[in-house]
Parts: sequence; structure tokens; C-alpha cells
Amino acid sequence: MTFKEENLKNNNQTDKILKSNTYKEVAREKFFKESVQIKKIPPELKKDSLGYRKERNRIKKFILRLKLDTQYFRTLVQFSFALLVIWIGIEFYLFVKWGETGGKSLFIERPPGVEGFLPISALISLKYWLKTGIINDIHPSGLFILIAILMIGFLLKKSFCSWLCPIGLISESLWNFGKKMFGRNFILPRFLDYPLRSLKYLLLAFFLYAIFWTMDTDALRSFIYSPYNKMADVKMFYFFAKISSFAFWTIFVLIILSVFVKNFWCRYLCPYGAFLGLLSLFSPLKISRNSETCIDCELCTKVCPNSIKVHNKKVVVSDECTGCLECVQICPVKNTLEVKTRFVNKVVPNWVFGILIIGVFVGVTGLAMLTGHWRNNISKEEYLKRFKELDKPLYQHNGGKVPKYGPND
Ligand code: SF4
Ligand code: SF4
Repeated sequence: MTFKEENLKNNNQTDKILKSNTYKEVAREKFFKESVQIKKIPPELKKDSLGYRKERNRIKKFILRLKLDTQYFRTLVQFSFALLVIWIGIEFYLFVKWGETGGKSLFIERPPGVEGFLPISALISLKYWLKTGIINDIHPSGLFILIAILMIGFLLKKSFCSWLCPIGLISESLWNFGKKMFGRNFILPRFLDYPLRSLKYLLLAFFLYAIFWTMDTDALRSFIYSPYNKMADVKMFYFFAKISSFAFWTIFVLIILSVFVKNFWCRYLCPYGAFLGLLSLFSPLKISRNSETCIDCELCTKVCPNSIKVHNKKVVVSDECTGCLECVQICPVKNTLEVKTRFVNKVVPNWVFGILIIGVFVGVTGLAMLTGHWRNNISKEEYLKRFKELDKPLYQHNGGKVPKYGPND
């Protein structure tokens, strides 16, 4: 019996491990203690991802863990970014309260990061910048955040979704919760999965068509400097603060579906993710499998949150791969499943991949701050005036059309 055949025989062991609980804690523990021995991986090829545990010094242990335990590193980044978003939300809430009270309550500066939640306005800003070379001063940070995210998508796969996006974190927490509660998540049958996955591309095509095909420079400028766009962040705040029953129930249904089906929103509906997925196909980094050393345990496929059959690919080329590196980390054999550069075939350590994601985001947004393109140019007085007018037709978005406005609006 060959080495591979012997290992295949023991595959049901890995099933037991993965079904036993969330693999993160249990599989790593059990797998490395038990099945690695059962699978007879040659000692020199056995990975030691838990090596940090032997370190006594706490700081060194923490740094070593960040290097060796990619999912720990990723979770830390996800939660740090989510905390930043919550902080931005609190500041923006206080800013809106200040505006609502006509400037009577404590003034808190509007956090520019809130523009990260205006992706359509940012896309319009992007086209305007590409056509005219002008970085608009209404929502400049939104433009830079969009550029940072698109750059991450192009250079580092769809990793924004699994490392930084707060919706991605909520999605992941929901299906993990579902798995804990019901012991499993559900995979939609192919005849449903494929057409549903195309929905996000239809939404993306609609937005790209509406912005890149139909809007000329005048239309772009008119939108960007419109009263509607100037207050788009405040309108978005009210969308959630005074949520309509239709929007509430839609979100509720999406939450329930996300408990049962992994990443329901991200996989089927998010146009942002669709854009990043397309860009990621050109990414110079790829997950590569060495079929010579692979023991066909299929752990990589079983842990993939996006149902990619990693174990039978030489290189993962998929618009659904979010670069979470769960597969790379769980692979028990050294030098078998790794992130590599596409053309020169150089290995990129998992921790470097994580640092690069943070680096691109901080680098691009930092550049905006350093060059004075972070804060917008709307004065406190103008904001106070616009808060009072917010119910006027000038601030309503009528069937996708921005209302006409004059120089004094
Ligand atoms: S292929 Fe690997 S990195 Fe990509 S989504 Fe699946 S588990 Fe994550
Ligand atoms: S690449 Fe996948 S199937 Fe091969 S050894 Fe690693 S985890 Fe197992």
C-alpha cells in the first residue's frame, strides 16, 4: 500500500475532527496530536503551528503566535477594524446629534472614515478623478478608502472581505453561531448556488453601467456637489436609525439566512465583493498546492468557508476565495499549501500576507491624510444649514435622479 493510499484510508479521522466542534480550537489540537501521527507524515514534513506555546516570555509568545497562528492574527485584525468602525459610528452619531440640535449640543467633528460606507458616491468620485484628475473635496476620504480596498483586491485577492470588512466579520460570526447551535451549516445545491452567485454580479453590472456608461463629466460633477451627496452620510445614518419595516425585515431575513448558509450576503448579494472577486483573478498572489507532498487529507477543502475544492487544485483561482488562509493554516504538511507569487513562485509567509493587507490600507488612507485629502470642505455653518433643510425635496433621491439645484443650494 502506497503512502498516499494509506493516508486516504484514514480520511474519515479528519471528518470526525472537523465535525466535533469548530475546527479552530479542536481540529488544531486534535489533528496535530492524533491524526498527524495516524497519517504518518514524515517527521521532517510535519508542521508545528503550535510552536509558540513553548515560549515563556509573554511578548515573544504573542509575536510568535501572530506569526504562526494566522487565524488568531486575522481575528485580531478583524476585531480591531470593527472597533475602529464602532468608534467612527459613535463619533458620527454625536455629530448628527449636534446637527439635529442646531449646534446646541457638544460639537464632535464628523469622522471622515464614515465615507467608507458610501460606496456609490465613492465610485462616482473615482470616475470623476480618473476623467478630470480632481479629487473632490466633498467626500475625499471615501475615494481613498475605495482605492485602498480595490488595491487590496487586486494585489492580495479578496482578502478585504475576510480580514477587514465588518460585514464579513458579522457574516462569519453568524455562520459560526449557526454551526455551534445546529452542528452544521448548509450548502445550497448547485442549481441554486450558481444562479444566486450571479446576483451580485448583476448588481455590480447595474452600478458600473449607471456610473461608467451613462454619466458624463457634467453629470458626475453635478452629483458630487449636489446637496443630496453632501448629506449622503447623514441620510444613510437615518436610513438605519429610522429604519423602514421593509428594510428591517429584509435585514432580518438576511441575518437568519446567514446563520444557516455560510456568508449568504457576501456569496450571493454583495456587489463590492463581486468587484473585488473579479479584481482578485488578476492578483499576483495565489494559493498553491504541491501535489507531490499533499497527502489528500482534504482538510483544506473541509475548512474552506467558501466551498472551494482546494485539495484537487494546483492553484486556487476563484472569485470566491477571500484569502482567509484557513486552508493554508490547517494543512498539516510543510511546504504543501502556501501563498506564492504567481510568476516567480516565491512563498509569501501567512503573516506577511496579513501585514501587506494592513499596510496597503493604512498606506493609502495615510497618504490621503498627509496630502490633505482626508477631511471634506464643508463648514460647520453649512452643515447646520443643511441639517435644517434635510426634509426638503433637494435632499431626496427620486428614482435614482438627484434633484436639480442652483448655486445657492
Ligand atoms: S481557498 Fe483557502 S484562502 Fe481561499 S477562501 Fe478557501 S480557505 Fe480561505
Ligand atoms: S493540501 Fe489539502 S489535501 Fe493536501 S495535505 Fe494539505 S490540507 Fe491535506
